[in-house]
Amino acid sequence: MPSPSNLPLSFNRVRAVRQLDASLEELLEKLKKHRPSEDPWIVRRAYEIASERHHDQFRSSGEPYLSHLLEVAHILADMRLDAITLTAAILHDAIEDTEYPVSRIEERFGAEVAHLVEGVTKIGRLNIKAPEARQAENVRKMLLAMVTDVRVVLVKLADRLHNMRTLQYLEPEKQQRISRETLDIYAPIAHRLGMSVVRGELEDLSFRYLEPEAFFALQKEIRDKAAFHKEFLDEVQATIRSKLVEASIPAELEARVKTLYSLHRKMLRQESGFEQVYDLLAVRVVTDLERNCYAALGVVHHIWRPVPGRSTRRSCTAGSPLKCKSARRTCIEWRKKAWRRTGSTKLEGARKTISAFRGCGSSSSGRKKCRSRANFFPR
Ligand code: MN
Repeated sequence: MPSPSNLPLSFNRVRAVRQLDASLEELLEKLKKHRPSEDPWIVRRAYEIASERHHDQFRSSGEPYLSHLLEVAHILADMRLDAITLTAAILHDAIEDTEYPVSRIEERFGAEVAHLVEGVTKIGRLNIKAPEARQAENVRKMLLAMVTDVRVVLVKLADRLHNMRTLQYLEPEKQQRISRETLDIYAPIAHRLGMSVVRGELEDLSFRYLEPEAFFALQKEIRDKAAFHKEFLDEVQATIRSKLVEASIPAELEARVKTLYSLHRKMLRQESGFEQVYDLLAVRVVTDLERNCYAALGVVHHIWRPVPGRSTRRSCTAGSPLKCKSARRTCIEWRKKAWRRTGSTKLEGARKTISAFRGCGSSSSGRKKCRSRANFFPR
């Protein structure tokens, strides 16, 4: 007998399908924009197969399972990854959840996609249920050793990121277990690959479930000061930018507020409040050549007096543990902490970190920064 809920349900279904289609089109647009020479048809075909295979599956949130697959692909498209990776992202749960044979994936999408999907499936089958912290390093090593193509790890990280973003729909016991695993295993892997934005979000989401009281207290403090932070960072960037232009140094600037988990850890370590955390606010200068890096540092020193006793840090992070294309990253990093001596009462005593930095390849979102020209550089 038809129940009254049938009508809204079918209505919802139509709406859901429309949303999924729109999300697919948006995904293909991103691919076209970042990788104009690549064939989007393979992604569209993967979507068709996935909608067949997962059609009767739903997420705990009540959304169609396809929405998860598309969101994972979007995370990777935003990192400017290729069509093969996006295809694998859409198919990443097909083997495990729909028993789609890997041989069929290979037939229809080629060996590369099949290899990626199989790799992600293997990681998922690893039994890494919340290992103790001292074992975590071994688990991370084992996981990375299994992988011959770094894109497998990227798909897995994107999968975990979307699962963490939708963790509120699971029961508390699972939330705890998954958050612990994310903090101990996946966030450090993201860090190792130079994906600092992904790492930050994974950490903050885990922190929210593992220590909700500390998380929400800190979140409130930072939110209350958000307008001041933004104004301060805008002003610092404007100052640096104008001086860099004067000195004809090509550069891009980035500003950030420290993530909550990283702030929390630092406060515990220093046994201090967050006003005492030196790098709560930071501006990064990305430039192209080593000499420009030093020149930018000089410009910054000229504007603000360096904090005495806090030395310039030069760290060589070449030779990343994962020797593969996407992990080739920062070669040398120069850092200088500086404080602002200003007559303005509002900003007085505010502190920040300035990094003059040269890096290439993967950064926060895998963008190739030092290859792009500064948009404010006078030509
Ligand atoms: Mn998944």
